[in-house]
Amino acid sequence: MYPESDFQQLSALQHLAYCPRQWALIHLEGCWRENVLTAEGRVMHDRAHDGEDESRRDVRIVRGLRLHSFRLGLSGMADVVEFHRRDQQTWKPYPVEYKHGKPKPDICDEVQLCAQALCLEEMLETTIERGAIYYGKPRRRQEIEFTETLRQETEKLCEKLHYMAQAGITPEAVYKKECESCSLFDQCLPKVTGKKSHQVEKYLELMTEE
Ligand code: SF4
Repeated sequence: MYPESDFQQLSALQHLAYCPRQWALIHLEGCWRENVLTAEGRVMHDRAHDGEDESRRDVRIVRGLRLHSFRLGLSGMADVVEFHRRDQQTWKPYPVEYKHGKPKPDICDEVQLCAQALCLEEMLETTIERGAIYYGKPRRRQEIEFTETLRQETEKLCEKLHYMAQAGITPEAVYKKECESCSLFDQCLPKVTGKKSHQVEKYLELMTEE
C-alpha cells in the first residue's frame, strides 16, 4: 500500500510504457511540447470528459470519474466509465478510454486502461473483466480483456514507475522508430544524446588517455 503522498499519475504509465526517457522528461523535468498528435488527443479527451453523464435503461455513462488505487499508488481520471446493468440492484463497471489515433502494436494503451480497471476494482470492491478503447482512426471501439498477463504487466509497470520516480534519474536516449512521432523529439535529441554521444565520449576518453 502506498501513502497518498507517493501517488503517481495514472497517465504516466502510458508515457513510461512508450519510452522511459519520455516519462522522465515529462514527469521529472517538466518538459512538454504539443504536436499535432498530442493536440488531437487532448481535444478528444476533453470532449470525452466534458460531456454530460447519461442514464439509459441498462447503461449509465459517467464522464471524468476520479480514480485511485492505494495498492498501485496511482490516481487520475477515467475518460468514461459505463455501468452496465447486471440485475435490478447491481451495475458492472466498464471503463472506456478515448484515443485519437489508431490501435498500436505495443500494449501502452491496454496497460493504461487496465490500470483504470484495477483502480475501479479497488474502489468499488468488484471484479472487472473487460473495458474498451475507442480509437479515432478508424472510429471504432476495441474491446480489451483484462487477462492475468495484462494485469501482471500493468502491476510490473506500476512498480517500475514508483522505482523510477524515487530514483529521480532521466534515462539516456535510445533512438527508435517511436522517436519520430514523439512530441519531445526536439528536446530529447535522441540521435545526438543517445548511443552516438557515448561513442563521442569514448573517443574523447581515448584521445585524452594518449
Ligand atoms: S525522442 Fe525517442 S528517446 Fe526521446 S523521449 Fe521521445 S521516444 Fe524517448
